[in-house]
Amino acid sequence: TNAHSLKTATTFLKDRSDSHTPLHLQNFVSGDFTPTVSSSAGSWIDSFNPKTGALFAKVPCTQPDDVEAAVQAAKAAFPAWAKTSRVERSQYLQRISDLIKLDREKFAVWESIDQGKTLERARIEVDRAVANFSYFATYILHEQTAARMIDGVALTYEHRSPAGVFALISPWNMPLYLLTWKLAPCLAFGCTAVAKPSEITSMSAFLLGRVFQEAGLPRGVINIIFGDGPTTGAALVASPLVNGVSFTGGTETGIAIRQATAAQIGKHLSLELGGKNPTLVFSDSMLPEHRDRTIRIAASAAFENQGEICLCGSRIYVEKTMYDDFVRHFTDYVAKTYVLGQTVGAVASLQHYNKIRGYLQLAAKDGATFNLGGVPAALLPPDDDDITVISNSEERGYWIPPTTLTNVPLDSLVLKDEIFGPVVTISSFQDEQEAVSLANDSEYGLAAVLLTADGARMRRVGEQLEAGMVWVNSWLVRELGTPFGGMKNSGTGREGGDSSRDVFTVVRTMHLPSF
Ligand code: NAD
Repeated sequence: TNAHSLKTATTFLKDRSDSHTPLHLQNFVSGDFTPTVSSSAGSWIDSFNPKTGALFAKVPCTQPDDVEAAVQAAKAAFPAWAKTSRVERSQYLQRISDLIKLDREKFAVWESIDQGKTLERARIEVDRAVANFSYFATYILHEQTAARMIDGVALTYEHRSPAGVFALISPWNMPLYLLTWKLAPCLAFGCTAVAKPSEITSMSAFLLGRVFQEAGLPRGVINIIFGDGPTTGAALVASPLVNGVSFTGGTETGIAIRQATAAQIGKHLSLELGGKNPTLVFSDSMLPEHRDRTIRIAASAAFENQGEICLCGSRIYVEKTMYDDFVRHFTDYVAKTYVLGQTVGAVASLQHYNKIRGYLQLAAKDGATFNLGGVPAALLPPDDDDITVISNSEERGYWIPPTTLTNVPLDSLVLKDEIFGPVVTISSFQDEQEAVSLANDSEYGLAAVLLTADGARMRRVGEQLEAGMVWVNSWLVRELGTPFGGMKNSGTGREGGDSSRDVFTVVRTMHLPSF
């Protein structure tokens, strides 16, 4: 079946390239794909293949009236969906999981074309989407709340109900993985939704609409609309009919969403935002028996998915005694392992390419040393008439090679801002105390990597780090029941297992006295 879907996706692409017509995406509302915009100017957003710079799809920019219609559809579907039994909901989730698995290769190929990531990386993310649905299919079957007796007088218990209609808004770095991380619990806990993927990477959400149809999901339970932030996203989060927002994206957008919904106190907000995560390398982790693992973890944390993961460790700090050793081994390993076009994809958009390029220009200006990489060439926007879908030329793609920077001044914006690309800084620290204070010297607090062979230090240092997730001698190890989320400007709320239940349900504490 995988071979079949790959063939379908490939044939489809070839057909499109022959016809020179970009694919026009359609919203999925009330169980049907609906053309929402005419081809009038300004209502379509161009979507490019980052590997070639070629236009391959047009994404509708859904206007507020149509956003409201989708919200109405979710609202209409809510009462019946909220009443379904958890066994029934679990079966829907498992069916969706199975259908995505069946189309693994099709999803992976499109995700890789749309986002720029390697096919191998895209496959890993499709597998996670499959796991997101099967995890919550199981979770919901085993969900329990404990009753408590107070002084032998009153029996109390938590009664939970689905919180209502949700806006599910996701970013462009791991489109399918992150959108399904919201869709699965939303369905499991009996909520309905309007989902809006990033306008830069809408393809996998478009494919999901077909999966929901095939799974027989009742009409209106999940609606998928396309569009940008200011027009579509802003109208969606502000709708008074939307009871909650689960958002993953940048901190500035998170602030805008909080402001826009400030007067709607009861609206559930889960905000998973940006990061500038530290990797701490203690000298004991560079002893010969640990060194390979240390280098491998630090490198994958920096460069996996071109550094376009909110959890990427983009600031490495190494204990001074082993600093030179680390830089040498790290640089050699990265040059060998992270190869552009093979294990490293293109960055997601021209705009993002230019943002990263701007930070590399700044690094050069601030006097940083480029141990690997350099300032990439300026890229011009594509011609309007260039709609070739598959181009053999990669010259116009958004390719930035893995870049390692040393000698970056402590006050440089390169060390402060989230660059979100294949760029890592390597600095040094003197002792534990300085390591902790450098790691915590950030407006963000999403994740941290701690590389050490000293068991006591793992807790002593790890528990002082201002990060929602701390990975000791590991990175990106996830158990989907654990809370996921950030401290400080990296967000508010947690998702995963019981934490997702808190996002998607409302609680009434019931008191039943014995008198
Ligand atoms: P973004 O904030 O620009 O966009 C995210 C989504 O929000 C998109 O769908 C966009 O259309 C929408 N949006 C934009 N403005 C909006 C508004 N005013 N109202 C409602 N919706 C709006 O983020 P991005 O550039 O797509 O993604 C990159 C960012 O996402 C990085 O900062 C990264 O760290 C973060 N991220 C965080 C996590 C996490 O779990 N914490 C995971 C992945 C990415």
